[in-house]
Amino acid sequence: MENQLNVIAEICPQDHPCPSVRVCPVGALTQEGFQAPKVDREVCIRCGKCAAFCPKRALVLE
Ligand code: SF4
Repeated sequence: MENQLNVIAEICPQDHPCPSVRVCPVGALTQEGFQAPKVDREVCIRCGKCAAFCPKRALVLE
């Protein structure tokens, strides 16, 4: 099976606008309020940019 992006909500402090939302080249990440971002797996191309950008490592490509 191809790897996919997982959002580890337990690691995300959920107290700020997610910077990785703006890094995604295809707009696959969305955030409601300060919640952990959600990924649209139909849109995500699994490039790993958001995972590399998240300082908390709450986004994991695995
Ligand atoms: S892995 Fe790439 S395409 Fe997928 S959500 Fe992250 S930045 Fe967007």
